[in-house]
Amino acid sequence: MRVLDKVFVVTGAGSGIGRELSHCLLSRGAHVAGVDLDPTSVQTTGELASQHAGQFAAFAADVSQRAAVEALPEQVLAHFGRVDGIINNAGIIQPFRRLNDLEYSIIERVLNVNLFGTLFTIKAFLPHLLRRPEAHIANVSSMGGFVPVPGQTMYGAAKAALKLMTEGLAAELDGTKVRVSVVFPGAVATNIVANSGLDVRQLANRSSGSKAMPASAAAEIIVRGIERDAARIFVGKDAAFMDKLYRLSPSCAARAIASRMRALLPA
Ligand code: NAD
Repeated sequence: MRVLDKVFVVTGAGSGIGRELSHCLLSRGAHVAGVDLDPTSVQTTGELASQHAGQFAAFAADVSQRAAVEALPEQVLAHFGRVDGIINNAGIIQPFRRLNDLEYSIIERVLNVNLFGTLFTIKAFLPHLLRRPEAHIANVSSMGGFVPVPGQTMYGAAKAALKLMTEGLAAELDGTKVRVSVVFPGAVATNIVANSGLDVRQLANRSSGSKAMPASAAAEIIVRGIERDAARIFVGKDAAFMDKLYRLSPSCAARAIASRMRALLPA
């Protein structure tokens, strides 16, 4: 779907990929309802795109809170009059710990934000999208949603569930005007570690950090994928390569990731 003149809801629009997605959509002539847990940061996303004033509106909501998400369509429709697309991008990672050492409170938060947050947003907006002449849903999973990452097992489980939820939804919406994409980013340079409440010093010596793609480049790839109605959007050579390797040899792909993660996990 061409994004020109369309109204998109972007969750997690206050930082990283979500902020860049908002700017990319605005520069292509779309309108953006930016949603974030942090009202100040999502406001800043709009201020940083002041040349597109009037095309952006900020909304504060925690996507893991069903009632807050269910209140969003009315607010967005009151402002823009319609909604043509949603990009479920808000997400958090878990502390780099083995499952055995991970508290239930953290597990619940990771599942609630990454999986249920996306589910709530889809269910809140889908009835509106189905009334549009064309519409799009893009859900941001992760390379960690198809290849196991030790120390991020529950994050990966949430992103794998999100992947299958998206693919199931795509199959169910076949024959409607709503197209669906699942997005698999590899490493992207953002503040997700700090924004997820983790100690950034734990990752200070991570060698792969320098290879991370800029968030603006990731956003361009995602928006181009939406414009092509791509069912699967891989962001970065690492994600595309891992997808091939995992299909060729799941155990080989798992070993390659595990060897990179060893330094991050306590012995
Ligand atoms: P980020 O931390 O820079 O941005 C995420 C935004 O989501 C933040 O503004 C945060 O406030 C918001 N957010 C978090 N919890 C929320 C909630 N409950 N309700 C509403 N907003 C909430 O992170 P990012 O790297 O830009 O991540 C964007 C997406 O990309 C996430 O889904 C993440 O899992 C995925 N991803 C990122 C990478 C990477 O390397 N950065 C890799 C694979 C997948």
